[in-house]
Amino acid sequence: MAKKRTEHIIQKDEVEIGPFQLRLMFGDSWEEDINLFTHSFFCDCGDVNKELVNYKSYISNLNDVILKGWCSSCKTIAVRYIETGERRGIEKVSDRIRKLNKN
Ligand SMILES: [Zn+2]
Repeated sequence: MAKKRTEHIIQKDEVEIGPFQLRLMFGDSWEEDINLFTHSFFCDCGDVNKELVNYKSYISNLNDVILKGWCSSCKTIAVRYIETGERRGIEKVSDRIRKLNKN
């Protein structure tokens, strides 16, 4: 069996965002949303109780959020893509964050 990668790949268009900025990307439902997405992600281990932990957050040029962290069950890297880019008004929020974070 191939060994799983131990480091995340960061794409050129991805900009890291902080925890507060992550909340801004979801708006009022951030707590519920983040909880949902960190409990529903793909991992080879298939453990139903797994959780995405120690993740860093990024936004893509499509204004999607990407959480890159670790699976709590098997301790390998795991990623969750979230299509926030389709949310209304998200462009404004993500453009502002991108400008702030991209030096
Ligand atoms: Zn796992």
